[in-house]
Amino acid sequence: MVSDPVAQGAAASRAAAPRRFSRSDLSLPVYAWSVGAAGLGLLGAVVVMSPVGESVARHPVPLVALVVALIISELTSVPVARRDSTISATTISTTFAVALLMVGPLWLVMAAQVLAGAVDDVRGRRRPVQVAFNAGQYATSLFVARAVFSWTSGHAFLGGFRAFDGSTLLAGLLAGLTFGVVNHVLVSVVAALATGQRVTSTVGSDVLFQFETSGVLVALGPIAAVIVDVSPFMLPLLVLPVLAVRRTALLAATREHQSLHDPLTGLGNRTLFRGAVERAIARQHERGVAVLLLDLDHFKDVNDTLGHHVGDDLLCEVSARLSAAAAEPSLGATVARLGGDEFAVVLSCPQPLAAAQALASRLLGDLSQPVEVAHTRLSVQASIGITTSEASPLEDVHSALKQADIAMYEAKGERARACVHVPGTDSGSVGRLMLLPQLREAIDAGQLVVDYQPQCDARSGDVVAVEALVRWDHPEMGRLEPAAFIDLAESAGLIAPITTYVLESALGELARWRSRGWGGSIAVNLSARQLSDLNLPSHVGSLLELAGVPACCLTVEVTESSLMADPRAAKRILAELRAMGVQLSIDDFGTGYSSLVLLQQLRVDELKIDRSFVTDLTPGSHDEVLVRSIVELGHNLALRVVAEGVESSSIARHLRRLGVDVLQGHHVGRPLDPSATTAAIAAADRSTADR
Ligand code: C2E
Ligand code: MG
Ligand code: MG
Repeated sequence: MVSDPVAQGAAASRAAAPRRFSRSDLSLPVYAWSVGAAGLGLLGAVVVMSPVGESVARHPVPLVALVVALIISELTSVPVARRDSTISATTISTTFAVALLMVGPLWLVMAAQVLAGAVDDVRGRRRPVQVAFNAGQYATSLFVARAVFSWTSGHAFLGGFRAFDGSTLLAGLLAGLTFGVVNHVLVSVVAALATGQRVTSTVGSDVLFQFETSGVLVALGPIAAVIVDVSPFMLPLLVLPVLAVRRTALLAATREHQSLHDPLTGLGNRTLFRGAVERAIARQHERGVAVLLLDLDHFKDVNDTLGHHVGDDLLCEVSARLSAAAAEPSLGATVARLGGDEFAVVLSCPQPLAAAQALASRLLGDLSQPVEVAHTRLSVQASIGITTSEASPLEDVHSALKQADIAMYEAKGERARACVHVPGTDSGSVGRLMLLPQLREAIDAGQLVVDYQPQCDARSGDVVAVEALVRWDHPEMGRLEPAAFIDLAESAGLIAPITTYVLESALGELARWRSRGWGGSIAVNLSARQLSDLNLPSHVGSLLELAGVPACCLTVEVTESSLMADPRAAKRILAELRAMGVQLSIDDFGTGYSSLVLLQQLRVDELKIDRSFVTDLTPGSHDEVLVRSIVELGHNLALRVVAEGVESSSIARHLRRLGVDVLQGHHVGRPLDPSATTAAIAAADRSTADR
């Protein structure tokens, strides 16, 4: 059958299956049922008006042979690669339907095709509305095609058996063409109703593909009609070349699929995605385009700490969630994995900006649900960059991807999770890859600066420590948060000079504050990579010496996952640091995957509860249970417990009641530059002295 209208119709109507029937939702089922009713009505009328028994009884062999061939071929699909690189199934039943149209009675070809389609639909567990639609569109297409045939050939409309006659060849081909066209139009309306596109565009979108595939099958119709007339037993011979073609087509389709899909997740790959963006851009004046790039945060940690098989499982789960979130047919979405932990979605739909923003928030929501892989519950965070054709048309694939990349990288920098590219702001913007050489220069050019965020004692309110947080004052892009460049620095081996710079600056400031009488300590973040650098302790030792600061005034913060990357090296390095007197803190505690055994072996000094458990803390919540458990665990191991992300006085009070020792967050104070920090420490000391 013509490019498998059953599957197309079924897919389109299945995809559009309304959960609740609103007025607009109803148009598709109403259309599908109407086509079903009209076609079956026509079939009923033709059967009633035809001498049913008589026509077959006279020439049973050729007619039964064609019917059997039609039914078998309808149930055997042949894969074909479409122009848009998707694989679709076609069946060769068209050939036998055209043959029957030319030599058999109308009721027989209609009934045989409807029956074959229905068997296939039931086998494919399609819904009643789809079965009815498919039956209706087959019956209608054949009815119209036969009208054309009988009008051009003079063959009786209802007709009985009439042996093939060369003079009806053109009429037969014309009827086959009519069959294909009516069929295609009826199915295209379903696609239009399901996706919200105009019928003219769904009819036009696939017409060449339809013509190529069904044209060959239609042309074989008269040959089948001749063969069945000579000897019905030769009919299977016609199937042999088709079977050979089917085998080659299957191989070609598999190869095509492999070359365009990611073997791990089954999503489209970069090549397929570029093609999809190209097609969407070509139609952007008719339907808008949005390109979304999505990058998982800290995926490397998962791979490093839990192994590549867990990383692979996580990627598969993420791709399943992405595909589900983008499955709405009206979005016209293509989802792809561009490589590593980078995914992309292109939308071809009206109002692409609103659609992309809604999809982005749906994606982020879906991804934030814990993922269960290898008996571990992981939480996934991602950053999304969006560019759309809404404000100005997209130029080409390259610039669309670049804009989305810039937006994604802004999202990472601003902690916004999803950012939309603003046209006209590219002049100063650079992609992440271009950022790398700039980061190398930035370290030497003094563009990195360190801010300090106060931590106060939960009971006395004294500022007992500050955390050093690095920022990049980019000459064109302004201030960049660490999320925009720390990952990049880690992967490019630049994290060591950055840490050295932060340590030098922080210890220098601390020496100054200490000289003014402040007795607090300073916390510096270390990356996973540094916990395998066996020279780190001696390096830290010399920096402490240079600044003239006692080791006990420095706390190094490491995350749970960074400990797990190379636990033996991490243990050794941290033990050496601790032996020097440096304090150890486990940062973002509760989000990683550290084992309690390791925690005990490491003999850390502090647990820093991740802010995701703190910012929305309310009495009786899960967060409260978690915070209470961490406090209990920490105190049982004689550790100090710090809560970060404290944004309000009520949360501060709550944390105090739960026994947290030290508070950090916007409520206590935002990260400040050194001179503002000096002032803040002095002011806090004054107010403590006044109390
Ligand atoms: P972190 O070590 O967990 O740092 C705390 C982060 O939470 C900081 O973000 C801080 O600005 C933010 N924050 C503090 N209080 C609040 C609050 O009340 N609400 C909210 N929503 N956020 C709050 P920042 O500065 O963007 O740093 C992000 C991360 O980058 C840090 O997380 C740390 O892992 C990393 N980082 C920062 N500086 C360095 C560094 O010098 N070296 C390394 N390796 N990593 C660094
Ligand atoms: Mg930290
Ligand atoms: Mg933290």
